[in-house]
Amino acid sequence: MKKFYKQLLGIFLVAAILFGGIAAKSMMSSASNAKAGEAKPKNTKAEKMEVHFIDVGQADATLIMCDGHAMLIDAGDYSKGTAIQNYLQKQKVKKLDYLILTHPDSDHIGGAPVIITKFEIDKVFISNYEKDNKTYQKLIEALDNKRLKYTTPEVGTQYSLGTAEITILAPNGTYNNPNDASIALMLQNGENKFLFTGDAGEDAEQDILKTDIDLSADVYKAGHHGSRTSTSQKFFEAVSPSCAVISCGEDNSYGHPHAETLNTFRMNGVKVYRTDEDGTIIATSDGKKITFNVPASETWKSGEPNGNSSVWEAPSQKQETETPEPKEQDADKADTDEITYVLNTKTKKFHKISCDSLPNDNRKDSSESRENIIAQGYQPCKRCNP
Ligand SMILES: [Zn+2]
Ligand SMILES: [Zn+2]
Repeated sequence: MKKFYKQLLGIFLVAAILFGGIAAKSMMSSASNAKAGEAKPKNTKAEKMEVHFIDVGQADATLIMCDGHAMLIDAGDYSKGTAIQNYLQKQKVKKLDYLILTHPDSDHIGGAPVIITKFEIDKVFISNYEKDNKTYQKLIEALDNKRLKYTTPEVGTQYSLGTAEITILAPNGTYNNPNDASIALMLQNGENKFLFTGDAGEDAEQDILKTDIDLSADVYKAGHHGSRTSTSQKFFEAVSPSCAVISCGEDNSYGHPHAETLNTFRMNGVKVYRTDEDGTIIATSDGKKITFNVPASETWKSGEPNGNSSVWEAPSQKQETETPEPKEQDADKADTDEITYVLNTKTKKFHKISCDSLPNDNRKDSSESRENIIAQGYQPCKRCNP
């Protein structure tokens, strides 16, 4: 009889351990991969989180560290891979929990092969937009060499990074423009919220709005390096940030950040931080408040020729004087050599890349010097005086 009870107790114990183990395991995976809106245990205490907007010139790379965990969003262009590697090592990052490559433009994925080769990485997320070029091939090769799986995360899915929580907001479908196919995400630590949208343009912003996920954030990483093609009015209102960080290169050929974007920030009392002026910008969150390593920029200087949004037009006037602008094509330009000028092969005029009368037809992007272009019989545009 006693023996029987012992056996029964033994079986019961084994079952309890097994069942407990399975239950704990499934709880763990659901905590790191739960759908937005599902009930799940909230972190009670937020640990310190640092968000490093690394100065990578006219490109993007953001390192986030929280409670011993690390994530990198974008990896600059190919010339910055090693600099980002060094930066991560200086921050004592040994392993990345997540590598998120918002979209396949070279200013976002170019440096990724170095990072993939040098660091242990748990999860890799890439956009669903595939490119047929060398930069993209090198990325996929590096991932395959490391036998790393890569997926496009689903909108609404949540992941954790220490005490911080990541909610995927985009891409909401497929797009015929790599910028719009950017992965967007909300990063929340305690009460502090940071929004990242890659280079998503207005169409993609509209689709993010349609998800009905709360977009309000304290810090908004200005979409597409502060381009006027992002940060559309409705989207900005939904985010309603108190701070914006712009990652762009000094004197970049795109004219980023554009005056319109700076005006939106300025009119709404948004503090602006810029990598072209201050280098790497570090925001630290303790779950309740966010502090920056540098004071906010007060130049309000746009990257456009003669650009200074401190000569500031009211938005109503602006709309009247604004001429319809040609569609931006920076997405693809980013993959060629640095574009110096845009040629019109018909009128034989050449323009600065930031000129507001760039040709739609007969357009040829050149990476040659001014002298060479003139030698080919082109004349400088009178509007932008290249
Ligand atoms: Zn970009
Ligand atoms: Zn882009």
